[in-house]
Amino acid sequence: MTPTSLVFLGAPASGKGTQGRRLAELGGFFYLSTGGLLRAALRDSSSMGEQARPFLDRGEYVPDSIMVPMVMELLKSKVQNMILDGFPRTVAQAEALDIAFQDGGKEPPSAIFLDVPMDELRRRVQGRLECSACHWVASRGQTELCSKCGGPMLPREDDDVNRFESRFREFERLTFPLVTFYEERERLLKLEALGSPDDIHHRILSKLSLSKSHGSKI
Ligand code: ADP
Repeated sequence: MTPTSLVFLGAPASGKGTQGRRLAELGGFFYLSTGGLLRAALRDSSSMGEQARPFLDRGEYVPDSIMVPMVMELLKSKVQNMILDGFPRTVAQAEALDIAFQDGGKEPPSAIFLDVPMDELRRRVQGRLECSACHWVASRGQTELCSKCGGPMLPREDDDVNRFESRFREFERLTFPLVTFYEERERLLKLEALGSPDDIHHRILSKLSLSKSHGSKI
């Protein structure tokens, strides 16, 4: 597979953020995390943050009517070599994304599905901390300060047990159908994503051939 843009699909705590950011750094892709954008909007109490807050508080997906215009606005000037983490999460979002790439004259993105069993997801959610400054993720006990920027590592608010279960149900109902969506379009790479972050990174790299044109960060 030699994709120009990639989307990471996977349940909460499947490693989309860790692997997406790492691959983006390596390949010079622009990296976009919709979960990260939403959390920033909540912190800033922007109008988008306030619209999204009740859904995030319940561990539900933010409706397509909010997410699609938000991402389409960002893509207006940026449809090129990207890694999208957490978008699309529904079939409507995937269709809108394909149209945006076509309209921008770009090849539509391929998807990497990180497949992780439920027990392991639960274990990871309970054990993960996120840097409150740069949002790097690490396991509890590894370090109290971020290895990237030195910021404080804290549990993520939406990683409590109830919200995790709810996010997982949303994933099964709304996002899992995207595996078929990309498979039918022959744009899917499915990976068993068990093992260390390094192992999974190398497994991803072994399946991709990155083209040299990814130097253009935007
Ligand atoms: P995780 O993958 O661990 O659930 P994310 O940071 O990707 O975490 O997303 C956190 C939450 O933000 C999701 O559970 C969901 O409620 C919301 N969210 C992020 N992206 C989308 C999206 N594309 N559509 C709907 N909701 C989204």
